[in-house]
Amino acid sequence: MRQLLRQIPAIHELQQDQNFLHLLETSNVSKMKLTEWLQETVADIRKELLAGDFPLENDSIRISDIIFKRLSDRLSYHSTYKVKRVINGTGTVLHTNLGRARLSDQAIKQVVETAYSYSNLEYNLNQGKRGSRHELIEDLVKEMTGAEAAMVVNNNAAAVYLVLKAFAKGKDVIVSRGELVEIGGSFRVSSIMEESGAHLVEVGTTNKTHYYDYEHAISEATAMIMKVHTSNFKVIGFTKDVTVAELKPLAKAHDVLLYEDLGSGAIYDLRNDGIGDEPTVVEALNKGADLVTFSGDKLLGGPQAGIIAGKKKWIDKLKKHQLARVLRVDKMTLAALEATLKEYANEEMVKETLPTLKSVLLKKDEILSRIDKFSSELSPFWTKRVRSDVSQVGGGTMPDVTLDTALLLLSNSNFTAQALHNQLRLGTPAIVSRIIEDQIALDFRTIEEYEFADLHRRLKEFE
Ligand SMILES: *Cc1c(COP(=O)(O)O)cnc(C)c1O
Repeated sequence: MRQLLRQIPAIHELQQDQNFLHLLETSNVSKMKLTEWLQETVADIRKELLAGDFPLENDSIRISDIIFKRLSDRLSYHSTYKVKRVINGTGTVLHTNLGRARLSDQAIKQVVETAYSYSNLEYNLNQGKRGSRHELIEDLVKEMTGAEAAMVVNNNAAAVYLVLKAFAKGKDVIVSRGELVEIGGSFRVSSIMEESGAHLVEVGTTNKTHYYDYEHAISEATAMIMKVHTSNFKVIGFTKDVTVAELKPLAKAHDVLLYEDLGSGAIYDLRNDGIGDEPTVVEALNKGADLVTFSGDKLLGGPQAGIIAGKKKWIDKLKKHQLARVLRVDKMTLAALEATLKEYANEEMVKETLPTLKSVLLKKDEILSRIDKFSSELSPFWTKRVRSDVSQVGGGTMPDVTLDTALLLLSNSNFTAQALHNQLRLGTPAIVSRIIEDQIALDFRTIEEYEFADLHRRLKEFE
């Protein structure tokens, strides 16, 4: 061991080594950074040698080879991106773990342009003076939702928090027990409420809440009646809830705010295509909510954002709140959201231009032809099978809706399904599959033609 320690060359010698020079030339890391990593690598090895836990398979191996192998591993770890694309073979369109909505071409273009250049983010070009980012796309949100006023914050959780904090801190908020939901990604209505300083007044039961429950709970201390879209679960059977329209007169009589957290917030009405019963934002506002909030990256199909829409009187107060500064969105989000919302001005085209809507609306026969096209170039090495299944919309929206789909099941004699599933996930681009009946399963609802070449290339690794 002592002998090995003595064999470690000095740093300035290692810096002259061909291996070091090669790593320096082929990476885009500076000599200073690479030397720092070299020093750390040598220090680690020294420590391991002294602690006696240095793995030595073979005495003849040169210590400097070990050093450069480790340095090279560290460089490759550094050079791979940690935020990266994934091929989604799960069929879940709005997969919260896989980044929810994919953006439209136009939204991507706007993001790139806004990121590349300066922009009018907070500059009013008409007046030649300071402007407000909160007003840039307000007219468009109003146009698409029918709201009197609107603003955009970081995500819907932030929107809910801001509304509660601004209007109900230290006061009562009445919520039905059937709506005290937890949404994937650790959003819990009761916790957000507590954090905001509002006092939660639960009414009714898990399955039934009546008008009189709200009526009895309302008092001088009430600031707000809040309705929450239950999003990711559905109570069926013996149920009753009270709509915003029914609550409107009560809220009005007691001069309290009527607020609905819509969760997903659809602009395109999927019921026209026989999918789900998600109300549109326009409808929710028409029913009389003073304020509604919804996500930008769920059914809307845009970037992560939280949209607050409703009465001008309330929105104006929110814009002036200190938290509006804390929760503000960046220029790339605004650029993407603007482009996404504009797509809705063409009710027919939007079904093609927004990847989220397109994927949700994809028919089973279209998915089957995707599979046909993909499989026609698949090597006979693979055992393949096509089978019917259902996909989910995901993102905590429409939990009871299933979309008819087709899966491509694949296996081969060299690898177990589990090994394939794991290795597909670990390579580049990563592929997320499922295992069904000892084969890997790919739902082509969420695999597009542009991904076929990469998918073929990845599968070839296992032939
Ligand atoms: C998804 C959801 C949220 C959280 O929205 P994010 O955009 O993920 O922050 C809040 N409320 C409801 C009802 C939801 O469905």
